Amino acid sequence: MDCLFCKFVSGEIPVGKVYEDADFIIIKDINPQAKNHFLAIPKRHFKLLSEMNKDDEACLGRIFAKISSLQEELCLQNGYRLVINQGEDAGQTVFHLHIHILSGQKMGWQPA
Ligand code: 5GP
Ligand code: ZN
Repeated sequence: MDCLFCKFVSGEIPVGKVYEDADFIIIKDINPQAKNHFLAIPKRHFKLLSEMNKDDEACLGRIFAKISSLQEELCLQNGYRLVINQGEDAGQTVFHLHIHILSGQKMGWQPA
């Protein structure tokens, strides 16, 4: 499968990992949309939340809990935003589920 994020997970393409455990990796986004912009990438490949199996559901729960515990590493102390783009209308460009983690500044709300 030709998936950029699978290649980051496997190490086939080297990338700086801010965090890694059995469930997921966290990297810096190459095109930051906030002062701090990280991507949490589950190790198992799937595109959409609707494709999750029971193991993925539990895994995603652990991922959210872990993200919230990485206060200093991800600069979450003053608040943060988590975003998951799903499909064409949301502008998803990498078809391996990932969570955007935005922090470090006040953010507005511009859905369009
Ligand atoms: P999406 O639009 O699918 O929700 O988010 C994909 C994200 O992956 C974008 O924010 C984009 O900047 C990021 N991205 C794409 N290619 C690379 C890359 O080669 N390295 C890193 N670190 N981020 C990438
Ligand atoms: Zn993948």
